[in-house]
Amino acid sequence: MDCLFCKILAGEIPAEVVYEDDQVLAFRDINPQAPFHCLIIPRKHIATLNDIADEDQALVGHMIQAAGTIARQQGFEQDGYRTVFNCNTHGGQTVYHIHLHLLGGKPMGWPPYQDTLKTPVA
Ligand code: 5GP
Ligand code: ZN
Repeated sequence: MDCLFCKILAGEIPAEVVYEDDQVLAFRDINPQAPFHCLIIPRKHIATLNDIADEDQALVGHMIQAAGTIARQQGFEQDGYRTVFNCNTHGGQTVYHIHLHLLGGKPMGWPPYQDTLKTPVA
C-alpha cells in the first residue's frame, strides 16, 4: 500500500519515535506547529475518520489515551495541550492514514482558525 505512515510503521521511512506500543506509534511531526508536536497513528491502516469501523472503537480510544501518556512523559499534562484529527479536504488532511496531532509546550489559543475562515465555502 502506498501510504507514507504505513512506510514509517514498516521502518522504510525514518521517524523520531516518542512512544510506541502494540497498537500505536507516535513520532515527531516533520513540520512542528508547537514546541512539541507529534502524530499518534494506529498500526492498522485506516484512511480517514469516516472509515472507523465499530471494531476500531477501542483502538481509537487507545490513540486518545496515548496522547495523555505522551503529555505526561513530556511534562506538559498539567499545563495542557491540543489534540486534533483532520478529516478530508476541508479538515486539512494531507496524509490518508488517521493520525492524532498532539501539540504542547505553549498556549494554543482558540479558535484554532482565522476569523475570515468562519464563512462557509460556497
Ligand atoms: P494532516 O495535514 O494530514 O492532518 O497532517 C499530516 C502531518 O504529517 C503534517 O503535520 C505534516 O507535517 C506531517 N508529515 C508529512 N510528511 C511527514 C514525514 O515524512 N514525516 C513526519 N514525521 N511527518 C510528516
Ligand atoms: Zn497507512
